[in-house]
Amino acid sequence: MANDHDEQKPSASLALLLEIVRCPKCAGDSTKGILDPVREHTWLVCRDCDRKYPVPEDIPVLLVGEGTKWQHTAVADLPVPPPSPE
Ligand SMILES: [Zn+2]
Repeated sequence: MANDHDEQKPSASLALLLEIVRCPKCAGDSTKGILDPVREHTWLVCRDCDRKYPVPEDIPVLLVGEGTKWQHTAVADLPVPPPSPE
């Protein structure tokens, strides 16, 4: 079994998701709300509002409330792996 855990690339399914997902807070404008993966793709950061969305198990949790919770947390301080939503 190949071990790809050293790679920083997202899995194929996550890469595909990243092309279509946008920050739910900013997505009303189609040019806004682009999410950049950080911390080895365990978090997504909105370029416009700086909300940060956790990606536990390669599944982005795109809830405004969740993003707001981490909005003022520095990227370097985000927990890895991210907490799963309750
Ligand atoms: Zn946003």
